[in-house]
Amino acid sequence: MKNGKKIIKRGRKRGEQMDKKKEFCDFCGGELRPGRKDLEFKAVGKVVLCRDLPANICCQCGEAYLDAEISEKVEKFLKKVSKISPEKYIPVPVFAPSVVLR
Ligand SMILES: [Zn+2]
Repeated sequence: MKNGKKIIKRGRKRGEQMDKKKEFCDFCGGELRPGRKDLEFKAVGKVVLCRDLPANICCQCGEAYLDAEISEKVEKFLKKVSKISPEKYIPVPVFAPSVVLR
């Protein structure tokens, strides 16, 4: 998972006609398929993990694209995240550049 991942929006709102043609990844051109993914965001100085978000996921590189409706909800959630109790905490290992870039 990439650090500081941005929300990638596909401009599709509820009520708009869903075109039947396939969508492809902006990065690698892989086909996007609907699924669920755990996504990491930065909010108020912390990293938060939102699990099982509905997303269109690239079958080649795993990049996740959120529909406009979902990404709006996530943005609203991130603004008030400090007032909400998380489901759980997980320890996140941190590595120094001297170790990573060895
Ligand atoms: Zn891709």
